Amino acid sequence: MNTKAYGATAPDSGVNPLTIQRRSLRDDDVAITIDYCGVCHSDIHTVENDWGRTSYPLVPGHEIVGTVTAVGPRVSKYKVGDTVGVGCLVDSCGSCPACDDHQEQFCDEGIHGTYGGTDRIDGTPNQGGYSEAIVVKEAFVLSIPDGLDPAAAAPILCAGITTYSPLKYAGVTKADKVGVLGMGGLGHMGVKFAKAMGAEVTIFTRSESKVEEALQQGADHVIISTDEQQMQAATEQFDYLLDTIPVEHDFNPYLNCLKYNGTHIVVGQLTPLEPALNTGALVMKRRSILGSLIGGLAETQEVLNFCATHNISCDIEMLDIQHINAAYERMKKGDVKYRFVIDMNSLRN
Ligand code: NDP
Ligand code: ZN
Repeated sequence: MNTKAYGATAPDSGVNPLTIQRRSLRDDDVAITIDYCGVCHSDIHTVENDWGRTSYPLVPGHEIVGTVTAVGPRVSKYKVGDTVGVGCLVDSCGSCPACDDHQEQFCDEGIHGTYGGTDRIDGTPNQGGYSEAIVVKEAFVLSIPDGLDPAAAAPILCAGITTYSPLKYAGVTKADKVGVLGMGGLGHMGVKFAKAMGAEVTIFTRSESKVEEALQQGADHVIISTDEQQMQAATEQFDYLLDTIPVEHDFNPYLNCLKYNGTHIVVGQLTPLEPALNTGALVMKRRSILGSLIGGLAETQEVLNFCATHNISCDIEMLDIQHINAAYERMKKGDVKYRFVIDMNSLRN
């Protein structure tokens, strides 16, 4: 089916109108008209080929909320009219150890992402949510709980699960001091989850302009990460650091902020470390570094439900798709409070 979308055709093309094909319904498929799509920094990395594996044309978008328009004959969980979500995953092998553990993001076949990969069955490119509609296997469709605003719920599907999952895995409790590095889409959700888990939370930001709001959002303290004195005062203060910084950065000043046994959780930077890591700072205090990738389907549903129960939602700035390239430039400067969400009606009109 011809489907209107916005995508990139080259690393420097920006994101522009194009037409993609959506498949006809398979027996276990759900067809969804997209109402909202959050804008993740991974969209920018992929559009601009920062990770060196983008195939063009590429339609980004993996924070999708929409309305079911049709279901295949074997679909039992969803019906036409339901408000549903699609996050970062659209398939997995279903039988490897990671899939058995409900950690489909670590599937032995590799990640079957909402965009950037290919369909497991017919090999066509998977294209993301900057589009008017999508067709997804039922098992990879999520239910948006009543009580969550659908637009503000969209970023939970990536920014939310990516920060919730490692904090939960680490076992954060009210006894812990958690620092969140970077107050962007992921970071502002990290603050909310760490607070909901009872921790004392500090935001590390470069942006003076975000201090007041960080405190209003529940952060207990704010550290300006470019201020050496403030960083010095934070030495050995934290049990966990949740690092959402999207670009290459020096881990060493942050490692020093961890107590002994502390853990630096990396979700932002996917490129090799430069400057090199001071392993002495790990060894001498039994500190560790933990990487984490989004979360599985069951846990993504769990975090949606957790948000509904704890009255947590994302702080969003709504955007018409026609302004997406300007939004990317603002995100690169850290200038968004705190997640752009595209109103997909702007594509249909
Ligand atoms: P945003 O652009 O929304 O936020 C990133 C924040 O990091 C900025 O707001 C800024 O906060 C801070 N920052 C930006 N540039 C720098 C810099 N040069 N030095 C220090 N701090 C900086 O990005 P997202 O939250 O959407 O994504 C963050 C990263 O996480 C991206 O790399 C993304 O690809 C990755 N990601 C990883 C996932 C995973 O599963 N592991 C899933 C989703 C995303 P401030 O102004 O407060 O300094
Ligand atoms: Zn994302």
